[in-house]
Amino acid sequence: MSVPRIVILGAGYGGLMAAKGLAKELNENEADITLVNQNGYHYITTKLHEPAAGTAHHDHARISIPSIIDSNRIKFVRDCVTGIHLDKKVVQLKNNDSLLYDYLVIGLGSVPETFGIRGLLENSYSIRNINSVRIIRQHMEYMFSRYALEKRQELITIVVGGAGFTGIEYVGELVDRMPELCHDYDIPLEKVRIINIEAAPSVLPGFDQELVDYAVKYLESKGVEFIVNTPIEECTEDGVILKGGREIKAATVVWTGGVRGNKLVEDSGIETMRGRAKVDRYLQAPGYDQIYVIGDCSLVFPDENSRPYPPTAQMSMQQGKYLGRELAKVVRGGKMEQPFEYKPKGTVASLGRKEAIGVVGDRKIIGGTAALIKKFIEIRWLFLLGGVSLVLRKGTL
Ligand code: FAD
Ligand code: NAD
Repeated sequence: MSVPRIVILGAGYGGLMAAKGLAKELNENEADITLVNQNGYHYITTKLHEPAAGTAHHDHARISIPSIIDSNRIKFVRDCVTGIHLDKKVVQLKNNDSLLYDYLVIGLGSVPETFGIRGLLENSYSIRNINSVRIIRQHMEYMFSRYALEKRQELITIVVGGAGFTGIEYVGELVDRMPELCHDYDIPLEKVRIINIEAAPSVLPGFDQELVDYAVKYLESKGVEFIVNTPIEECTEDGVILKGGREIKAATVVWTGGVRGNKLVEDSGIETMRGRAKVDRYLQAPGYDQIYVIGDCSLVFPDENSRPYPPTAQMSMQQGKYLGRELAKVVRGGKMEQPFEYKPKGTVASLGRKEAIGVVGDRKIIGGTAALIKKFIEIRWLFLLGGVSLVLRKGTL
């Protein structure tokens, strides 16, 4: 007799937690579990700003998926999803046959939000996955190497568009990286320009002002220039053009101006806002039973009158864990007992290797203590994925 087929799309924070949870709850007579991901590895998105700046090798930010799942319980399909056909209950793949499902979990992450800004897609880079960060690093190094011959300032000018958490964390890594990079290419450190441009009146809009001030003061002391209250309106081959017409010439432009849900979600016909599905209290897509959307593809509101929670790894992990437990009950013919409830534990953002800012519970943390807590958060994720042995292999303080 055939058993229900659960197909999980995306081996990110949400997808992996869901797959591992379901595999723990359900035995092989109760469900077939298939996990689909376009790469054979999971990338630790929360560390991608490090290889993008060159402060860590990209292998530190990825883990082989077969090494962290129980292959007797989870069938791993390495392939790219090209379409989701909800009416036929079919997932279209690029290289393999399509997959049929009874229950579908969509955790395909996000893509950069460009807000239609002219030239951005063609002329900027973004910190999205292993390939994209390898390209940023190599491009930046090539520009630095050309400076020795051409002496053009734009070759050693880096513009980071958007001073949200991704922008600030990346700028922090660049600050750490510059002394070594300048030494390698015989460039005086003070000649390099790192410019972080933010549309809102402040860096890290909405975050605790005291912590924002700390971050800005620290980064400015390391030479970072901030331009706030000034959106980027165009990106060209030469750099960026700001509102009001000012042009900044830069050979490296990295866009960290926000994200939207994976396009496959809206293409499937699920109702979305900025590519994200406003899921119900059980993480189901609006209007569809047995289709669950998690992580950056989903939109969760604390209540009717509030703004949605920001898309974070923390949210994705909690959603994945929830589905691992509650979806198992549905598969067994029961009902989800508890609605999903997000429990924010805080936010910690790195400013390079030794500095960070954050709020944990109701405590503000800064400096080395915050940097250490950030490392512990990363180590916890490794532990959840692969236990002590993965922590020993990949975890560094
Ligand atoms: P992801 O983790 O993005 O995983 C999606 C998976 O789907 C990937 O494996 C991808 O390869 C796969 N996929 C995509 N398309 C396809 C396809 N067509 N076919 C097959 N597979 C596909 N959040 C925090 O809470 N704390 C932090 O410190 C933090 N730091 C961050 C630092 C940076 C530099 C960035 C960019 C983000 C950071 N975030 C942080 C946000 C966090 O990384 C995301 O919210 C989180 O990764 C979302 O998890 P997810 O499971 O939705 O998707
Ligand atoms: P974001 O949306 O949080 O920030 C993007 C920033 O770009 C905003 O401040 C926005 O005002 C600015 N911006 C938008 N358009 C602009 C323009 N035209 N010109 C200049 N600035 C512009 O996006 P993000 O920083 O990529 O973060 C994405 C998600 O990941 C968020 O939910 C964030 O909380 C999470 N994240 C968390 C951490 C952490 O917890 N340490 C680190 C990175 C990302």
